[in-house]
Amino acid sequence: MQGKLIIFSAPSGAGKTTIVQHLLKIFPELEFSVSACSRPMRKDETQGIDYYFLSLDEFKQKIANEEFIEWEEVYKDNFYGTLKSEVVRIWKKGKHIIFDMDVVGGLNLKKQFGKESLAIFVMPPSIEHLEKRLQSRETETPESIKRRIGKAENELQAAIMFDKIVLNDTLEHALVEAEKIVSDFLN
Ligand code: 5GP
Repeated sequence: MQGKLIIFSAPSGAGKTTIVQHLLKIFPELEFSVSACSRPMRKDETQGIDYYFLSLDEFKQKIANEEFIEWEEVYKDNFYGTLKSEVVRIWKKGKHIIFDMDVVGGLNLKKQFGKESLAIFVMPPSIEHLEKRLQSRETETPESIKRRIGKAENELQAAIMFDKIVLNDTLEHALVEAEKIVSDFLN
């Protein structure tokens, strides 16, 4: 079967990963699409669970082999992408796919899959809020925070191109809203 696609996009630090993890607990019919990426693994991450961590050369080889459904150089030399094999793996299990990806990747998938997909933008309450979130992560350097904030300013402009917007003013509100949107789409 070909299942549906639920895409969560947001600027880095807006809270989309927390929302996606929550939905995975609530909806057993969903499975998380593990992206491939070429950035180094963080100490709290696991190979094949958070990402398929590849070297830059391995990633570029897979681009050349056309193994990606979408890919992007999100930050310099940090490539991220969704492997075709990942989508097939999840659909073979009879599940719908939930994606956590950046704004450009999210819109790209939406364009490819149309009505079979739902693209949701997670809106942070403010840029200042995002900056605080990134600082509290302790995995980001001052440069990477600056880079992510610079990108976020453009990403906020793209919100209106999504099917739905979830405002993450309080996490509790965002989770309830996200649950309702996903439930409506799946039924
Ligand atoms: P991080 O390094 O914080 O894990 O991710 C950086 C950005 O890359 C995030 O906005 C994340 O959502 C995005 N990202 C993760 N996987 C993919 C993917 O498969 N494709 C695209 N286009 N972006 C992705």
